[in-house]
Amino acid sequence: MEKEQIINKAEKVLYKIYNRFPVVFDHGKGVRLYDTDGEEYLDFGAGIAVMGLGYDYPGFNDAVKAQIDKIYHISNLFYNEPAIAAGEKLLRASCMDKVFFTNSGTEAVEGALKIAKRHAFNRGMRTDYEIIAMKHSFHGRSLGALSVTGNDHYQIPFAPLLPNIRFAEYNDLDSVKALWSDKTCAVIMETIQGEGGIFPATEEFIGGIRELCDRSDALLILDEVQCGMGRSGFMFAWQEYGVKPDVMTVAKALGNGMPIGAFLASGRAATAMESGDHGTTFGGNPLVCAAASKVLDIFEQDHIVEHVNEIGSYLWEKLEELAAKHDCIADHRGRGLIQGLEFTVPVGPIITEALVNQKLVLIGAGSHTIRVVPPLVIEKADVDEMIRRLDTAITR
Ligand SMILES: *Cc1c(COP(=O)(O)O)cnc(C)c1O
Repeated sequence: MEKEQIINKAEKVLYKIYNRFPVVFDHGKGVRLYDTDGEEYLDFGAGIAVMGLGYDYPGFNDAVKAQIDKIYHISNLFYNEPAIAAGEKLLRASCMDKVFFTNSGTEAVEGALKIAKRHAFNRGMRTDYEIIAMKHSFHGRSLGALSVTGNDHYQIPFAPLLPNIRFAEYNDLDSVKALWSDKTCAVIMETIQGEGGIFPATEEFIGGIRELCDRSDALLILDEVQCGMGRSGFMFAWQEYGVKPDVMTVAKALGNGMPIGAFLASGRAATAMESGDHGTTFGGNPLVCAAASKVLDIFEQDHIVEHVNEIGSYLWEKLEELAAKHDCIADHRGRGLIQGLEFTVPVGPIITEALVNQKLVLIGAGSHTIRVVPPLVIEKADVDEMIRRLDTAITR
């Protein structure tokens, strides 16, 4: 089918929620994407920080295909070996105690919130507990996750949402203290805010919240859906700070494109929910768990996190140079391979120019920030290429 035909049909069929770019991707290889016209693109968006290993990474597709031919769904009423293998590897990488597999990031957040509620219930707080979340956060689109997402634009049409959520300023410990009460049962935050514009937590902030939680038996929930799985230069971004969450969520890059997420719990949070408290039909099926298991093997064997550190500091240098060259770049933030460039102007036209004319895939985070979240396997030459194309797109 011709591109225009595909796009017209899509607009007739698909629920109109997204304003899609006029490109139909057909296949990928490494860190390159190819559209239906045969044009090649450099991918620095990774399907929204999902394709950590890029496309067709050696051994990954074969592992998924082998599992399809064996068995790929049996429900959670039975045991399956890929889920145990993936779980073991995740627990080893995170030092958490228990894992529950979900189909998405938002579902991982739902599970984390249910642990917080159950923990409060177990402490006899019944229904008057409160949860502290952050302004400019993003935790997902389902109603629970949306309730802790500090964005009026996303929330207002769907109010009323979960009650007793209080919003603090990210990286402002006093604003958290001001909201704290004996009803506070949990704090939920991203270790590095992603959609909100790439803001890493300060050590003082995350450490201070850990202390507040410890003092009053509240749970610290760290959302690592975007910044986790090696992207920050640590397997999980919180490992940089010497704090450990009671509950953590992961998803995006966990299955390298297979739809899998998870919530992991440690200590008392790991036993807060009991049999029958939660469930999922698809979650943790052998197919997606075989994918996650293979991803975790590849991370270890091919030293992916070390590579992120090396290439992440190179990307940092090059983006610093770019920022120095263009007055319209106001700020540069991030860690590893999750970096953001904040502009004094809306970034929509730059992203479109980069895609359509420079064949560079980039995504935004809010209206004024370009989010640089490439596959973790990019090389220095890919960074150089990206900088050249972005430089041209900005100039245009
Ligand atoms: C993307 C994202 C989510 C939601 O994940 P979905 O898979 O889209 O439901 C939750 N938290 C963070 C930090 C995210 O970046």
